[in-house]
Amino acid sequence: MNCACNPVQNGYRTSQHPCFSFEAKHKYARIHMPVAPRCNINCNYCNRKFDCLHESRPGVTSEILTPESAREKYDFVKDRVENLSVVGIAGPGEALANWNETKSTIELIKKSNPNVIFCLSTNGLMLPDYADQLVELGVRHVTVTVNCLTPEIGKRIYQFVNYQGKRYQGAEGAAILTKNQLAGIERLTRQGVVVKVNIVMIKGINDGHIPEIVKKVKDLSVFITNIMPLIPAKGSAFEYMSQTPMKEVNKMRNICRDELQQMYHCTQCRADAIGLLGEDRSLEFSGLWSRKAI
Ligand code: SF4
Ligand code: SF4
Repeated sequence: MNCACNPVQNGYRTSQHPCFSFEAKHKYARIHMPVAPRCNINCNYCNRKFDCLHESRPGVTSEILTPESAREKYDFVKDRVENLSVVGIAGPGEALANWNETKSTIELIKKSNPNVIFCLSTNGLMLPDYADQLVELGVRHVTVTVNCLTPEIGKRIYQFVNYQGKRYQGAEGAAILTKNQLAGIERLTRQGVVVKVNIVMIKGINDGHIPEIVKKVKDLSVFITNIMPLIPAKGSAFEYMSQTPMKEVNKMRNICRDELQQMYHCTQCRADAIGLLGEDRSLEFSGLWSRKAI
């Protein structure tokens, strides 16, 4: 068995990661460090908000931190939040489009806290370039958002992709993104990294295609998939679409669970979330560290 498929035996303490293990959800806390404001693609459902104190969903944060302030924040929070096992970088933009900040944050925290579980979420565009460096840095848990496998579907989800100094629109951009996501995932799982794939379920666009995505990423030794509802952000291109009902999301998860283990306990966290899943304490700790404009 590939060690990435067995969280008990892999030595990466996957069983203490609340997103990768249901049992860990009630016991272990995580902190997201919002050090990555920029993004290299444009998803139609996205509108990254800064200084939004009352909204809880991916992409929302009250502050942007420098790597140094992230380390200070971690040192402060770790004594106040019980069982803080995970430091994650989940935006509010794309972790790998802010590579220097992402890398420095992990290095700085790791220096004095070698036992932290580091994780990162990414759109995967730059994964083939950074997968090996992530492994070297000690990152053993990575989440990649894969919403489609074909450019025809992708052009309805992504407006553009900025890659190697050029902007690719629609289907052309989506094709590059998908190719890099799959190559990047394979590069990680081959090296034993535990990979979760997030899939945003968008009715009428990719919902019928989700079982195929799950099958494909299973073939790439992905550990778990997390099918999430579309939450159309105000100001995004999908603003006027309906939020995908959880009943339908769970139905899709049930269809896909025969293929691959499904995450049922995702709480759609902010990019600066702190605490157990479902009891976010981000506001308690926000604003104590210097802010940096996006
Ligand atoms: Fe927004 Fe994330 Fe998509 Fe970038 S990858 S546009 S931050 S949802
Ligand atoms: Fe975990 Fe879901 Fe929150 Fe991401 S959004 S940290 S997968 S619970």
